[in-house]
Amino acid sequence: MKKVIVIGGGAAGMQTALRLKEQGIEPLIVEKEADLGGKLRGWHALFPSFTPAEEVLAELRRRIQEQKIEVRTRTEVARVEPRRVMLTTGEELACDAAVVASGFTLFDAALKEEYGYGLYDNVFTSVDIERMLNEGRVARADGSTPRRIALLHCVGSRDEKVCQQHCSRVCCITGVKQAMELKQLFPEADIFNFYMDIRMFGPGYEEMYREAQQKYNVHFVRGRISEAAPTIDGRVQIKAEDTLTGRPLRMSVDMLILLVGMRANDDNATLNGELRRAPSGFMAPRDHFLHRVESNVAGIFYAGTVTAPKNIGETLDEATAAADAVAEYLKN
Ligand SMILES: Cc1cc2nc3c(=O)[nH]c(=O)nc-3n(C[C@H](O)[C@H](O)[C@H](O)COP(=O)(O)OP(=O)(O)OC[C@H]3O[C@@H](n4cnc5c(N)ncnc54)[C@H](O)[C@@H]3O)c2cc1C
Repeated sequence: MKKVIVIGGGAAGMQTALRLKEQGIEPLIVEKEADLGGKLRGWHALFPSFTPAEEVLAELRRRIQEQKIEVRTRTEVARVEPRRVMLTTGEELACDAAVVASGFTLFDAALKEEYGYGLYDNVFTSVDIERMLNEGRVARADGSTPRRIALLHCVGSRDEKVCQQHCSRVCCITGVKQAMELKQLFPEADIFNFYMDIRMFGPGYEEMYREAQQKYNVHFVRGRISEAAPTIDGRVQIKAEDTLTGRPLRMSVDMLILLVGMRANDDNATLNGELRRAPSGFMAPRDHFLHRVESNVAGIFYAGTVTAPKNIGETLDEATAAADAVAEYLKN
C-alpha cells in the first residue's frame, strides 16, 4: 500500500488523511502539537452558522479514530522531500508523497505598538475573545461589564508597515460575528466596528453583516484607528478618522478588540528551499487554476491555509482535492 505523510493535523491535514484513506492510500499525520485540530481548537462558534467549533472538531477527530488513521503528535517536521520527511529530532520517515498542511500563523498584535496590545488593560485580540467565549466569561480586566466596545478590522492585514499586504479574508466576518455575540452578552453595550472596507465574500456573510446592523444595531465606521491610549479610569481612548464624513473622531471605550490577520507560517522558508513562495510568504501552488493543490516539486502537495488565508469550508474542500491529486499522482 502507498504511504503518504500529511504534515499538520489541523482541519486541512485531518480531511486530507481521511480522503487518502478512502482512496486506498495509507496516510500518516505528523502534528507538532499534543492534539489534532490546529487553530480550530481555539475558536468558539463558527461563522457563518454559529456552529460550535468543538462540534466540527469532534466529528473530524471521531472519523480519524474510526478510520484508524495513524497520527504522530508532538512531532515536528523540519524538512520535506517527495519521498522522505525529516523530523526536528533527526529521524527520517519514508513515504511515496507528502502533503504540506501546516497552516498559518496568527499576526502578533504587539507589533502594532500604537494599539498598546500587551501594554494597556482592556486591549484584546479576536483570539482572546474566542478564548473568553469558550471559558464562558467575557469581561474587562477588572471583571466589570463593558458598556462601549470597539473592534478594529485589518490588524496585520493589508498593512505595508508590517509587511503584510494581503487580505486575511476571515477577519471582517469574524468582526461581525464577535460584535453579534458581544451584543447578545451585553445588550446595553454600544459596539463600533472600524473598517477600511468591508469584505463579505462568503455564503451568508453579507446577510450576517446586514443582520448585525439592522437587528443588533452594531455601528460600522469607515476609518482606521490611528492610536489607542489608556485613560486614568482604566478605559482606552482611541483616535480615528471617519473617512466617510472626513471628520476626526475620538472616543473612550471599555474594550478595544484587534481583529488579527492570518500570516504565512514561519516554517515555510525552511521546509524545502526548492518550494516556491508567494510574495506574501504563503506557499505558491504550481498554478492558480489547474494545479492549485500541487507544489512546483512533483510529489509534494498542499492543503488548506498553507497557500493563502481560507475559511474552514474552503480548507476542507481543498484538502479533499489535494488527496485526490495525490491519488492520481501515485497511479502514474
Ligand atoms: C480569529 C480567527 C477566527 C476564525 N474563525 C473561523 C470561523 O468561525 N469559521 C471559518 O470557517 N473559519 C474561521 N477561521 C479560519 C480557520 O481558522 C482556518 O480556515 C483553519 O484553521 C485552517 O486550517 P489549516 O489546517 O489549514 O491550518 P491550521 O489550523 O493552522 O493547522 C495547521 C496545523 O499544522 C501544524 N503544524 C505546523 N507546522 C508543522 C510542522 N512543521 N510539523 C508538524 N505540524 C505542524 C500546526 O500545529 C497545526 O495543528 C478563523 C481564523 C481566524 C484567524
